[in-house]
Amino acid sequence: MALVNLREMVYHAYRNHYAIGAFDIVSLDFLHAVIGGAEAQCAPVILNLVEHQFHLYDFEILAAAAVCAARRAGVPVAIQLDHATTTDSVLRGIRYGCNGVMIDGSELSFEENVRLTRRVVDVAHSCGIPVEAELGHVARRVGDERPGSRDQPVYTSPDEVKLFQRRTKADFLAVSIGNVHGQPVGRGQLDLTRLARIHALVDVPLVIHGGSGLSDAEFGCLIDRGVAKINYYTMLSTVAARRIRGNAIEDRAGAYGTLVNGVREVIQQEVERCLALWRAADRADAVLSEVAPWSEVEHMIVYNTIDESDEPVLDMMAEGRRVLGNIPGVRRVVTGRAVTKDAKYRYCWLVRFAHAAVINTYRDHPAHVEFANTLFRPRADNRISIDFTEVNDLTDRERDTTPAPIAG
Ligand SMILES: [Zn+2]
Repeated sequence: MALVNLREMVYHAYRNHYAIGAFDIVSLDFLHAVIGGAEAQCAPVILNLVEHQFHLYDFEILAAAAVCAARRAGVPVAIQLDHATTTDSVLRGIRYGCNGVMIDGSELSFEENVRLTRRVVDVAHSCGIPVEAELGHVARRVGDERPGSRDQPVYTSPDEVKLFQRRTKADFLAVSIGNVHGQPVGRGQLDLTRLARIHALVDVPLVIHGGSGLSDAEFGCLIDRGVAKINYYTMLSTVAARRIRGNAIEDRAGAYGTLVNGVREVIQQEVERCLALWRAADRADAVLSEVAPWSEVEHMIVYNTIDESDEPVLDMMAEGRRVLGNIPGVRRVVTGRAVTKDAKYRYCWLVRFAHAAVINTYRDHPAHVEFANTLFRPRADNRISIDFTEVNDLTDRERDTTPAPIAG
């Protein structure tokens, strides 16, 4: 299992002077290609699920696929919800499996951005989830902007970063220093002096969005000035589209499989090129040994009730799924009934928490307290509970017959 703590992963890059690639995934081809590229380069990687791309796929389904691919990967992987604009969206991202979130208040005033970011930091941190904030505004190339958004860049002000950081407590800071979303290479003019000033003022990893618009030589300058995460998508989309157009020209009657032939490979090549350029290649083992794995917690209760029939219990379960499923950091609520009537315990709850931090958040949440005190505890006369994490360590016997696992 190689899903790891995103905050620790980015701080590892920050301390060791390289940058983690955060690549947008918009389909299974992108997901396979990004993981494949990271594995080929033995590099840690972040899978980005971006709010303004949700028209391209079903967020819940692609997030589930990302979690599955991350757990199966031989390199450390984390999953970030990118450019979230509301607290509700952040909570949904955490529920679907993201273990990092970016809140984009870059189109708000300084005060509004601080307030939104701080609200998100408070709720995300209560779930053990780190937050990336943006100060200034990284513009979008014309034709790629969201409806109603302004398209003018606002450079990050070094005069504001310290106060912003102190008031928001964000874990990483995305900066605007001439980088632009969705831009082809070589159009930007980076203000590296501004970046160096920001880096000297705040001790948090800096993030660059719009990596596709930068030249190879610029990346080293960014990493030397505190950039530890680079968001990258446009060039992946460009090489994929170019491949599809080429396939269509070669075989005008080609079926779907013919048109997308080789798409994964060209995306993977570009991912590999970036990871090597950003000094992330061959870092996977160090990250796996120094960074905590990401472990969900299962909160399980088996119980009997004072009821003569199932009906009142089924009603209580339905209410529990509704109320408890909305508590921050709860990924899902399963309610169950024993298969056989003479089972020692007849009913169960299985509540999945995003992280161990949610144990306390959940226990003290007013919705849980009220549900437990008024509906559950008076009814459940006899119960056992446990909070547990999955144990995946190999036994000695398995170890003898299996290739050495990667630590974590
Ligand atoms: Zn971005």
